[in-house]
Parts: sequence; structure tokens; C-alpha cells
Amino acid sequence: MEFEHVLVVGAGQMGGGIAQVVAASGRRVSLHDAAPGAVERGIDAIRKSLTKLAEKGGEDPDEVLSRIAPADDLVAADLMIEAIVENADVKRAIFGRADEVLPATAVLASNTSSIPITLLAAATSRPERVIGMHFFNPVPVLKLVEVIRGLETSDETTAAISALARDLGKTPAEARDLPGFVSNRILMPFINEAAYVLLEGVADPEAIDTIAKLGFAHPMGPLALADLIGLDTCVAIMEVLHEGLGNPKYAPCPLLRQYVQAGRLGRKSGRGFYTYA
Ligand code: NAD
Repeated sequence: MEFEHVLVVGAGQMGGGIAQVVAASGRRVSLHDAAPGAVERGIDAIRKSLTKLAEKGGEDPDEVLSRIAPADDLVAADLMIEAIVENADVKRAIFGRADEVLPATAVLASNTSSIPITLLAAATSRPERVIGMHFFNPVPVLKLVEVIRGLETSDETTAAISALARDLGKTPAEARDLPGFVSNRILMPFINEAAYVLLEGVADPEAIDTIAKLGFAHPMGPLALADLIGLDTCVAIMEVLHEGLGNPKYAPCPLLRQYVQAGRLGRKSGRGFYTYA
């Protein structure tokens, strides 16, 4: 399987980063988003990121950008990487439409943090070609791609997506399709517990994050990381863990829910646990 033309759906923080690394590998990218202006904002963010990387000896930003074309709708490609909102119904609708628009040989991948790949695959007529390709934020910097096999994902699809991840300069790690896979099964309860620690007044956000940074040698504390991921995405993932594993320990912390209700989504809205300029 060769992936020369990749359709990236969703031009938010993850979709933009994915489009960037795929284009930087020499492949052609079509970038689609449903929200007006989102693709343009995504391309602006890619330009900024490429300009920073070029200062450190990276590729010419214009050359990489010339391989990314905005798309008003889904288009035929060898591979779709979906990176839209973490909502199962909305993602299933995209997979159903992609199954009609992309050739039968194309692979349909999702960057979902937690939604079952098997559920997305069931919205298509090609479950053997549906897979999780889970990048980490910021995509141009972090080297991991968690590769998630749905119930029916073929060995050929898994091998091709792992090879693509390596070609993008990433290290693939395989996981089975159980709630949260590996990464968010471990990370999200950690973030959720940090939110409880704040809610219970055990410590303020700076102290919580300092303890994780200096005590556990994490590059960033759990609350700053939650702000980077997006508190809406964190709540959505906790809900998948809670429902999928049926254990009350995974219930989203009420403080996380309250911040989302207030529109405090983290960096992307300018305010979460911290305030951003
Ligand atoms: P985001 O809010 O920055 O971007 C989501 C984009 O999807 C928005 O631009 C929105 O307009 C678009 N969108 C929504 N519905 C759409 C539709 N029907 N068709 C086309 N576009 C649509 O979100 P994000 O942080 O980039 O997250 C995207 C996905 O990546 C989620 O599944 C999330 O769980 C996953 N993910 C996020 C992170 C992270 O750190 N934020 C890390 C790994 C994976």
C-alpha cells in the first residue's frame, strides 16, 4: 500500500499537525474542515510551525505548504486521517461518507483518543481497512504514533500504517481496541485525579504541576497538559473510559465538566486551568 495522497479531515490542532508532517514527508495532502475559516486558520498555524522549524534547519515552509491543498469536501485519496471532534456519532458519519467517496482500496484512519475503532469501522464496508493512527500533541515534535487495530483490521493495513508512521519519523506502538487504548487509559485518569486534587483544595494549579514536573520528571504538569489537549477532549475521553469500562473511578471530575460548560477549554479558547495571552 502506497499513500501518496492523504486526505486529512479536521484542521484543528491535531489535523493541522498531521497535515504538516505528512506534507513534510513529500506526500500530497488535501485538508478539509467543516467550520468556515478553519482550514485557513489551520494552514496559518502550519506556516508558523514550519517557520520555527526552518530557523533550526528544517525544510523550506513554502515548499511544504505547496503540497497542502484546502478541500471544501471529502475527496478521493489513498488514505484518510480523520482528526475531527471527539464525538462518536460525528466521526461515524464521516467514516460512512468517506467509504463512499474514497476508493475501495483506500485506508480510513482515525486520530481518535478513545472512540472504538471497531465502531467507526462498522460504519463502512471495509472494516479490514479501518485503523487507529493516534498522533501526540504537538504532532511535529512528539515521536509516538499509537496504532490501534479494530476487531477486523487486517495485518496488511496495520503493517502499512506502521510503515507510514516510521516514514514520518515516528515510532509506532500497537494497541488493541479497548477503551482509551494504552495512552489515554493511563494519562486521562492522571489528569482527572489532578483536577480532583485542585477541586478538593489540596494544592493550587502551579503547585500540582510543579510536583509532577520536578518530582516525576514530566516535561509538563497534568493541568498544563490538560489545557494543551483541550478540556472538552479530556471530558469526552473520560466519558468513553467510564462508559466502556463501567467503573466509577473513571467518572470525569466535576471541575473539568464545569470548566467546559464555562467555555474554558484550555489553550485553544485562551483559558482553562491557566490563562493564555
Ligand atoms: P480541535 O477542536 O482543535 O479541532 C477539531 C476540528 O474538527 C475543528 O476544526 C472542527 O471544525 C472540525 N470538525 C468538527 N466536526 C467536523 C466534521 N463533521 N467535518 C469536518 N470537520 C469537523 O480538536 P483536536 O484537539 O485537533 O482533536 C481532534 C481529534 O484528535 C479528536 O478526536 C481528539 O480526541 C484527537 N486527539 C487530540 C489530541 C490533543 O492533544 N488535542 C491528541 C491526540 C488525539
